[in-house]
Amino acid sequence: MAKSSEDKAREEQAASNPVRPPQISTLSVHGGEARQKPGDSITDPIFCASTYTFENTRAVIDFIEQEQPREEYGRYGNPGERVAERKLAALEGGEMAVLYSSGMAAIVGLLMTKLNSGDEVIFFDECYHRSREFCSKHMARFGVKTVQVKACDYDAMEAAITPQTKLLISESPTNPHLSIVDLDRFAQIGCDHGVETLIDATLATPYNLRPLAAGVDYVLHSVTKYLAGHNDLLAGVVVGSKEKLEPVRKLRGIMGAVNSPQNCYLLSRGLKTFELRMQRHNENGMRVAQFLEQHPRIEKVYYPGLESHVYHDVARRTMRGFGGLVTFLVKDADWRATADIVDAVKIPRIGPSLGGVESLIEQPLVMSYYQCTPEDRRVFGIPDNMIRLACGIENPDDLVADLAQALEGTK
Ligand SMILES: *Cc1c(COP(=O)(O)O)cnc(C)c1O
Repeated sequence: MAKSSEDKAREEQAASNPVRPPQISTLSVHGGEARQKPGDSITDPIFCASTYTFENTRAVIDFIEQEQPREEYGRYGNPGERVAERKLAALEGGEMAVLYSSGMAAIVGLLMTKLNSGDEVIFFDECYHRSREFCSKHMARFGVKTVQVKACDYDAMEAAITPQTKLLISESPTNPHLSIVDLDRFAQIGCDHGVETLIDATLATPYNLRPLAAGVDYVLHSVTKYLAGHNDLLAGVVVGSKEKLEPVRKLRGIMGAVNSPQNCYLLSRGLKTFELRMQRHNENGMRVAQFLEQHPRIEKVYYPGLESHVYHDVARRTMRGFGGLVTFLVKDADWRATADIVDAVKIPRIGPSLGGVESLIEQPLVMSYYQCTPEDRRVFGIPDNMIRLACGIENPDDLVADLAQALEGTK
């Protein structure tokens, strides 16, 4: 088989820096890109094409017989998508990345590839509710059994493994409680029982957490969040070994959950500033968490960077920074008094999602759990006085001052 563009880009990357392996910011700027590009442009062009043509019949036959690394039809890939995929694989330290049109498409694509009727999956119960819903409601229709155990209860996870178990799934950090999984332990359970492991590291990003280095098989991201980083596109990715992901890529070509060339360009462009953005997200998250923790109107702050957080030790051991998401409870506040604070802030906008340059604020009770019963909210750990703030990259003093005025002004 001819050398793939992936292999060539990797070689170029290695050759361009013989002294030491490139670090995150170098990878986010140059990773996955050819040194010399079409038109001698410094940026990658956007190829607006749904199909790619062949010079003659011989060229078609050569392409098939030799598995030539070139484009054929947009559902199987486009040049800009390959650049974004190589960049993401380089950032994560994985062999291969498969890009999807959303984080959910990535989860669905992976599960549909890996699971057969009769198989079982085990989730830590703080995982993204739509992922668990897809498994328990929809994979169930195809004979796949979903088991949920309490987040970070490794003994319960191990006890739930049967000969039918094919995949262990967790998020780290979880949302909105920001529980941190001990990745070594999680990967070891999979290893001991011959079961593959998946970490949804959307809230951490490859800047803060390295799941593949800990021995996890698949890392998944809602690229929509920190990786794309500008609240302007949806995408998802799975990163892992070439061998494990080849069939995932094949099924994606059939599912068709792919990104447009324009979307891929926006993603690669957004990634250029990945490290700078993460440094500010981490700084803002920490500053806001520390401010809230000492504020008399605040009952509790969930932030893995705080010593008071249940998983602070694991977080300090395994994470480089703790991200921009801060969850907190307002003292003696009912749902309305809590909503008043959400309505009183002037910088963060009210909306779901996280990880973009603009700060976003929401009351989980209203934004995500409005139609749940109070009993379900109790089980999910979503009290009426909870607020989730996804810090953007604004000035940290401005964010703190804004929160201060909102807490003062609504007393
Ligand atoms: C947003 C999110 C998803 C879903 O990703 P989309 O891009 O919205 O489809 C999955 N997991 C986590 C942790 C998320 O935050």
